[in-house]
Amino acid sequence: MYQKLLRANIASLAPYSTARDEYQGEIGIYLDANENPYDNGYNRYPDPYQKELKKEIASRMGIQPSNLFIGNGSDEPIDLLYRMFCTPGYDNVVAIAPTYGMYKVAAAINDVQYREVQLTEEFDVDCDAILSSVDENTKLLFICSPNNPTANAFARGDIEYLIQNFNGIVVLDQAYIHFSSEPSFAMDGYENVVILQTLSKAWGMAGLRLGLAIAPQWIVEVMTKVKYPYNINVVTQKLVLELLQNNSVDTQIQEIIEQRKMVMERLGEMKQVLRVYPSDSNFVLIKVERPRELYGKLIDAGVIVRDRSKILGCDGCLRITIGTPAENLRMLAIVGKN
Ligand SMILES: *Cc1c(COP(=O)(O)O)cnc(C)c1O
Repeated sequence: MYQKLLRANIASLAPYSTARDEYQGEIGIYLDANENPYDNGYNRYPDPYQKELKKEIASRMGIQPSNLFIGNGSDEPIDLLYRMFCTPGYDNVVAIAPTYGMYKVAAAINDVQYREVQLTEEFDVDCDAILSSVDENTKLLFICSPNNPTANAFARGDIEYLIQNFNGIVVLDQAYIHFSSEPSFAMDGYENVVILQTLSKAWGMAGLRLGLAIAPQWIVEVMTKVKYPYNINVVTQKLVLELLQNNSVDTQIQEIIEQRKMVMERLGEMKQVLRVYPSDSNFVLIKVERPRELYGKLIDAGVIVRDRSKILGCDGCLRITIGTPAENLRMLAIVGKN
């Protein structure tokens, strides 16, 4: 029933067919794609469907490869969802605020009205306000949990309520889910939920640009039709597979969560820190009296944090990523001296 939300030009799209679409074998003489035949490791086009990589990532996540889309960072699935569902100058999307900035930028690029619904003072979602800002042209609802920059995860019941009461596609961004005590959200049964995850945060591969969308098969199929055919290059596909084999991500996540606890306790004891917000992420949000001044002091000492104090709802707030233990101590020493 959600298929009818697709734009008509997308629903009827005949995608570019790549040279390798017709031949399924492995070994052969490839005279079909006008490549340079001399092997230097990179002379061939990448697999446009990332079959091997999808199999590996899907099995780690306990999902089917047919429910997985792999993009050039999370930015790609975000942009694709706008292009698939939102008619420029006509449709709109609803999102919480404050939240990750890319949803709004992608809306502006696609000429789609972006409706923001402020979180409560305690950074909870206001489900009724969200649902009452929805109209018949609202195609997407963006919920980021744990949320950037507020650091908290939303109550599961609230997210479920929104999914069940919105007749469009809910985009649930779980970029920070590995740092959360809330378990990852099960997809089962929801035909209108797209979960975004990324290899840029917990997985430690921000430089390789790999974003994931976990979605009903029909949505993955349409995303695959609309994306650039070779959106993930050979180097990224190969390196990610290698890095997944020998990773120590689980211990790093545990370490980061322990460090977060320590950092939050220490910050909480400092008189110049007015508030340390709860965190389900690999960063903390603090409120201070003079954010700009503290930001400057940190910069002067070579410590760069994110000044979020000008954002509505984040008065006086700085966002600080959890670093290595040594980096965290250095940051704490500077904040404590302020
Ligand atoms: C960092 C972040 C991402 C990741 O973006 P990539 O393009 O995959 O690096 C996605 N969503 C949120 C909320 C983020 O903070």
